[in-house]
Amino acid sequence: MIKFDNVTKKFLLGTVALNNVSFEITDNEFLFLVGPSGAGKTTVIKLILREILPSSGSIMIDDFDIASKNFSQTTVLRRNIGVVFQDFKILSDKNIFENIALGLKVMNSPLIEIKSKVKEALQLVGLSKQEEVFPVQLSAGELQRVAIARAVVGERKIILADEPTGNLDPKTAWEIMRVFKKLEGQRTIVIATHNTDIVNSFKKRVIALKEGKIIKDQRKGGYEI
Ligand code: ADP
Repeated sequence: MIKFDNVTKKFLLGTVALNNVSFEITDNEFLFLVGPSGAGKTTVIKLILREILPSSGSIMIDDFDIASKNFSQTTVLRRNIGVVFQDFKILSDKNIFENIALGLKVMNSPLIEIKSKVKEALQLVGLSKQEEVFPVQLSAGELQRVAIARAVVGERKIILADEPTGNLDPKTAWEIMRVFKKLEGQRTIVIATHNTDIVNSFKKRVIALKEGKIIKDQRKGGYEI
């Protein structure tokens, strides 16, 4: 469960990125976070990752208020969250297996377990044969598949995606969304996007932000307000 309660985030120089925002996301929900550039979508994602702290309000992840200055489990929190970015953020000097395995290695998982988990993740995203390939040999769509595999590996409970189709052509964007769809019901999935067609056709929950405020929170919603 992710629960924002009256969350406000003011940056230095006074920008109010989020203004008294409240919502609750239940486990294994699939939802879109939409809104124009500057609406506050990335700020929501960074707050869930505890990369930034709110100016006021509470953010509960399960039983923990991660907005509390006393919260000391940030590493554990992040182990449970996979992130997918617009620009993939794949390490170019590591092959696909190594890119995906990295998070598991940090957790000191045994090699045999790492191998089977990476294979499972590669299968999910349809890249089983590309384990030893280097990122330079892959297309943008394939790189984003690697990023999704990296985000899901290790049974992360929450997947956050910030404009995951922003750098992809429409056909590839749909292919990527079909990968997210496969995860539906198995993880909590929050996708921040501008992609009107995708949001409208998925008919999932939509939280729309504008100037830091929620202007719509609708089950089976569309992009338009
Ligand atoms: P979105 O992801 O919807 O485009 P953001 O969450 O990135 O929106 O930004 C919301 C607002 O907060 C914008 O006005 C942005 O300029 C501002 N903002 C974001 N990060 C910072 C920062 N580190 N310092 C100052 N202002 C910021």
